[in-house]
Amino acid sequence: MIIYLDNSATTKVSDDAAREMMNIMTNEYGNPSSLHSYGLSAEKELKKARLRIASALDADPSEIVFTSCGTESDNLAILGTYGSRMRKGNEIITSKVEHPAVLEACRHLEMLGAKVHYLNVNEKCMIDIEELKACINEKTVLISIMSVNNETGSIMPVREINAVKRDAVFHTDAVQAFGKNDIRANHADMISLSAHKIHGPKGIGALCFSKKTKPLPLLFGGGQEKGLRSGTENLPGIVGFGIAAEYYYRNKESIRSNIAAAKERLLCNIKNSISDIRINSPENGSSAILNVSFMGARSEVILHRLEQSGIMVSSGSACSSGKKGASHVLKAMGLSDKETEGAIRFSFGMYNTVEEMDYTAEKLKEAVEGFRKLGSYR
Ligand code: PLP
Repeated sequence: MIIYLDNSATTKVSDDAAREMMNIMTNEYGNPSSLHSYGLSAEKELKKARLRIASALDADPSEIVFTSCGTESDNLAILGTYGSRMRKGNEIITSKVEHPAVLEACRHLEMLGAKVHYLNVNEKCMIDIEELKACINEKTVLISIMSVNNETGSIMPVREINAVKRDAVFHTDAVQAFGKNDIRANHADMISLSAHKIHGPKGIGALCFSKKTKPLPLLFGGGQEKGLRSGTENLPGIVGFGIAAEYYYRNKESIRSNIAAAKERLLCNIKNSISDIRINSPENGSSAILNVSFMGARSEVILHRLEQSGIMVSSGSACSSGKKGASHVLKAMGLSDKETEGAIRFSFGMYNTVEEMDYTAEKLKEAVEGFRKLGSYR
């Protein structure tokens, strides 16, 4: 039995998306730029997928650019906006708990002369809107704050930020929010998305942007995607993304309530059966993410022990878990080394069931208590 609880790292591609992608790869494999009938039918598929993504966000299809992933969408928003607005000013505001796709893009711009303000978060992984307001001035060209944090699930005050941004362009990385939380095109000037977090394929993302905030492209070439993202479109990926997004939004009530029930059951089981823990996810956070520290335990050891029982979890974000050192998110929240060392992220998807959560908690209890008794399994 496999219990997959790492859905914030990636998800299983839905059967419908996979089937249609196979059809595109093997039957309707035309290039959307070609003028013959295969090209025209590929272009039709591209349009259909763009409409599906736009509908999920209440956006106009012309406001959607397909990219190769969430990372590229973040980079296009940040580097592209800075490039188009650097004559107006050189200041950027972001937070200390952003995904590396945002933080590293900002660090790159610092080397080119940008001044970046990294907002603090409190122990609930929440920024302070007053600190943000105090940082905004006439040189602020860009604000980039994520919608949902990928390690703790904290939900940032996106609409409030949009209301106080003044002349800055507001970008939000909604990779963990899309589908699971309500995110609309009018909540921000630019919104980054990624397909593989909602049962679409890996290697395809999108940036939704309002017309007044056109970024400079990162890739130059054939002028696809209205010149914003040259390169032959990844049509199988785009079509799979469209199908996954449409399914998620059509069934969002039932998917969200299943996910919330799974999280609630696991949390309840953990609280009732394991002592000496710290819940790192805020109570009002995303239903899809539960981050818990087990004091006196080491997350990698717990993770491997759970894997032996067929349970897949994460010791932090997938992007940083291969790296040494504590999570930058938990550190920014002020957690001690003891608290970060034993942190596990459980993340839920539409295929999880509440029954799985009882078995998971049972195996977790064995792993944590065993570690605490012996010091280590290794
Ligand atoms: N932003 C956030 C918040 C994420 O969680 C991730 C992936 O984990 C990304 C961006 C990067 O997305 P992708 O894997 O599609 O590049």
